[in-house]
Amino acid sequence: MTYTTQMNAARKGIVTKEMEAVASYEGLDVQDIMKEVAAGTIVIPANKKHTCLKPYGIGNSLKTKINVNLGTSRDCMNLDVEMEKVKQAVDMGAEAIMDLSSFGDTQKFRRKLVNECPAILGTVPIYDAIVYYNKALKDITSREWIDVFKMHAEDGVDFMTIHCGINRNTADRFKAMKRQMNIVSRGGSLIFAWMEATGNENPFFEYYDEILDICNEYDVTLSLGDACRPGCLKDASDISQIEELVTLGELTARAWDRDVQVMIEGPGHMPMDQIEANMKIQQTICHGAPFYVLGPIVTDIAPGYDHITSAIGGAIAAASGASFLCYVTPAEHLRLPNVDDVKEGIMASKIAAHAADIAKGVKGAMDWDNQMAAARQKLDWDKQFELALDPEKARRYRAESTPEREDTCTMCGKMCSVRNMNAVLAGEDVDVI
Ligand code: SF4
Repeated sequence: MTYTTQMNAARKGIVTKEMEAVASYEGLDVQDIMKEVAAGTIVIPANKKHTCLKPYGIGNSLKTKINVNLGTSRDCMNLDVEMEKVKQAVDMGAEAIMDLSSFGDTQKFRRKLVNECPAILGTVPIYDAIVYYNKALKDITSREWIDVFKMHAEDGVDFMTIHCGINRNTADRFKAMKRQMNIVSRGGSLIFAWMEATGNENPFFEYYDEILDICNEYDVTLSLGDACRPGCLKDASDISQIEELVTLGELTARAWDRDVQVMIEGPGHMPMDQIEANMKIQQTICHGAPFYVLGPIVTDIAPGYDHITSAIGGAIAAASGASFLCYVTPAEHLRLPNVDDVKEGIMASKIAAHAADIAKGVKGAMDWDNQMAAARQKLDWDKQFELALDPEKARRYRAESTPEREDTCTMCGKMCSVRNMNAVLAGEDVDVI
C-alpha cells in the first residue's frame, strides 16, 4: 500500500520505518505511535528527500525534544563556523536544527545540511525569500513567497515555520490593541510589514491549500508560527496572542483534513504563573497538536542569562503539555550566538526537557537520575562523570580543586555527609577532625 505523509500512512494502518524508529527510541509500542500520528498528537518530521535523517517523534506522550537555531547573518557569515555548531548540537543530543540563515548562499548551506545532518531540519522560508529575491520587501509577490516554500520542500527540509496565523483580520486587531513590544517574531514582523506595504492578504494564509499540496508531496511538517507571541511579560496572554492561536487551531484542522502533520509554535515571554494555562488553552484550541515553545522566558531583566530564564519556563511548559523546546542561548537579545553560547543553550534546554520528562512520568526518564544517585551514594566519581549531562565540565570542576581525601570533595572534606553516613551505617568509626 502506498502513502503520502506519515499521517496518511498511519491513517491507513501502515507502520513506516520512521514509526518503528520512534517506537524503538521511546521504548513504546509502535501501534500506539501509529495511532497518535494518525490523530495528529505526534508528528514525525521526515521529508522524503532527507535520506540521512534519524527520525524522532514529537508529542506530549514522548520524551521532550529540543531544537537548536543556527545559520548565517549579514554580520556573521562563516559557513564553517555554522557547520561546527551543527556538529556540536548533534553530538550534544539536539534532535532538531533550524537553519535560520539570512545572508549568503543559503541554498548551498541548506543542501549541505540535508546531505550530512541526521537531525530533523527546519527552516523559515520568509527569511530566505528576502535573501533569495534580494529586492524591496513590497516588491516580493505572493507567488514568490510560495515558490520559496516549495524550494525548501524540494531541498529536503523536514519542517517549516510559516506565519499564516496573522491575516488581515488579526493584523487589524493587533493595531487596535496596543502592546508594549509590538511583533517580535522576525518572520511575523516581515509578513506584517509586507501586508501593510501591499495591502494584500498574508500569502501563507491566502494560499494555504497550495502550501498543503506541497507538504503532502514531500511530507513536510508545518510549524504554524506565532507572529504575535509576546515579546515581554507585559504582552503575555493578550488578545493578539490568543486571537492568532484561534486561527492556528482552524488551520490545524484544515491541514489534518489533508493528512499534513502540524506543530503549533508558542510563547515567548511569559510570567511563570501563566504558562500552564497557556499550554492547556493551546491543547484545546489546537486539538492536541504538539506545542513547540520558544522559551517561555520568565523574566525580562536578565540579558546574558536568557538560557536560564527560558529553561525555567521551558521546564514548566513541557511538564504542562509542550512537546518541543526551542533552545535559547546566553546571547539572546544581544548578538548571534558563538559556539560556546550554543553549548550553554543546549545544556539549559536539555536540563529543562529532562526535568519535565521526570515530572510527566515519561518512560525511563527517572532511571538516569536513579543511577546518578546510586553513584553519588557510593562516591563513585568515575560513574558520576559517565552519567553527567556534561561529563567534560563535571571532570574539569573536580580536577580544579583536589580534596585531602580522595573519596570526598573540597566542599566538606572530612565532614562529607555521604562518606560519614556510609561509615556509620557500616558500623565504622567516623573521623571528622
Ligand atoms: S564532600 Fe560534601 S559536597 Fe562533596 S561529596 Fe561529600 S557531601 Fe557531597
